[in-house]
Amino acid sequence: MPEPTPMDGLTIPHFVLVPLPAQGHTIPMVDIAHLLAERGVTVTFVTTPVNAARIRKVIDRAEAAGLPIGFLELRFPCAEAGLPEGCENVDLLPSLELTPAFFRACGLLREPLLDRLREPHQPPASCIVSDMWHLWTQGVADELGVPRLIFHGTGCFPLLCMRNIRSSILFDEVNDDTKPLMVPGLPHRIEITKGQSPFFRQDPESERLWNEMLTADEACHGVVVNSFHEMESLYIEGYQKAIGKKAWAIGPVCLYNKNEDVSVKAVRGNKSSDDGLQCLAWLDSVAPRSVVYASFGSVAYISPSQHVEIGEGLKASNHPFVWVIKPREQSPALEQWLAEGFVESTEGRGFVIRGWAPQVAILSHSAVGGFVTHCGWNSCLEAICAGVPVLTWPFFAEQFLNERLMVSVLGIGVAAGVNTRTMLMGDEIMVKREAVEESVRKLMDGGEEGEERRKRTKELGEKARKAMEVAGSSYQNMTDLIQEVSLHNVKVRSKMGREA
Ligand code: UDP
Repeated sequence: MPEPTPMDGLTIPHFVLVPLPAQGHTIPMVDIAHLLAERGVTVTFVTTPVNAARIRKVIDRAEAAGLPIGFLELRFPCAEAGLPEGCENVDLLPSLELTPAFFRACGLLREPLLDRLREPHQPPASCIVSDMWHLWTQGVADELGVPRLIFHGTGCFPLLCMRNIRSSILFDEVNDDTKPLMVPGLPHRIEITKGQSPFFRQDPESERLWNEMLTADEACHGVVVNSFHEMESLYIEGYQKAIGKKAWAIGPVCLYNKNEDVSVKAVRGNKSSDDGLQCLAWLDSVAPRSVVYASFGSVAYISPSQHVEIGEGLKASNHPFVWVIKPREQSPALEQWLAEGFVESTEGRGFVIRGWAPQVAILSHSAVGGFVTHCGWNSCLEAICAGVPVLTWPFFAEQFLNERLMVSVLGIGVAAGVNTRTMLMGDEIMVKREAVEESVRKLMDGGEEGEERRKRTKELGEKARKAMEVAGSSYQNMTDLIQEVSLHNVKVRSKMGREA
């Protein structure tokens, strides 16, 4: 059955999507491009050569399916911004200290993007959906005379918490970084320490960026959120009130792939490593819900010593496991430790993935029963959609707030007990092996508490699926969003017609 079109009688709108080149921001934008295109909207997805190469299969598939998505490649100005050549994604930066230079490079895309969007063969843009960190896209939208919508990549619970933490003097006045403080103005009692706050010990450049980013919400046309009403309606309402703008919850967008095709799930964001593909075959041989999957997203850095503690903790828990080590984290010392007994002693019940894991495909496998996560927003949603409870191990940004949502509000997570925000790149250990073992046992526990947690996660996953179905809340919000942009264009055109 063809998807019902929400634009009857109106011209087909053209959405220009400008994602931040960071996996946690780009992947959901790719999903949004598909969701829009499936509803008949013309989409331009802005990317760069290195990032386009990573999603080549997705691009080819969209083309083969005849979806109206154009992938617009812009040269990424590494040299001009002081970045090593090829650093076109946050996960390719040799050090997170280069983040300001990376943002500078993004800002330099403004003129080339405007030029390309003005090329005669391009359909006129109807709106820009921009990542929150691309503050420069407001200028692009203004020059084109179209609305700018912001995509934050996170949910309304963390967004509202962040706004309320910033506007509260409580967090400034306290000297003790470990004292739990109540986040003001929320429907639930949520506590967080100063050391866990996203703004803890920020350098002035990041401080300025956060301020600008959070206030930009008030200047934009509205906000697009990868979330769903059934999960955080109170917070969606609270956030809309706070910014005085509409927030369209259209997710979880990872569910766009309705036919659950594993080959599609396995190429999200990047080409899966060989280990990753072999892992999927290995999972077929393991008992249902017995495996714990440990992966910390695309940016958080796990030191070699911390990896050893994770490995020992997983092994001691006695549960089968899949454990991801990012390319940036691989080291001769870690390889040596793996080779000197670990791999052998966990043979048949442990699987190490070096490189990109097909995460959604792994989480959706019936053998997986728990997820050790850094609490990136996408990872949290992907766990919910798969009905897999989480062991929360946040690092930075809004991840501690996402942990509170998973553990305290939704009751689908166990906290690993991380006390403070960390962006360190040294050889630190945040959680010792005994604590890893204990919390993994708790997560995978088949007792009453564990079963209740599992049941809640599953029920929430069902609600997520319903939200994305025809007539579900997120589906309806997508309809509203498309109509809003279409009607806005009609109004602008008729005003221009009257003025001519
Ligand atoms: N991801 C993946 N394979 C990996 C690492 C990450 O598929 O080996 C995906 C993951 O499924 C999610 C995204 O990358 O969609 C990471 O986003 P998230 O918000 O969880 O964390 P971030 O990387 O932004 O910290």
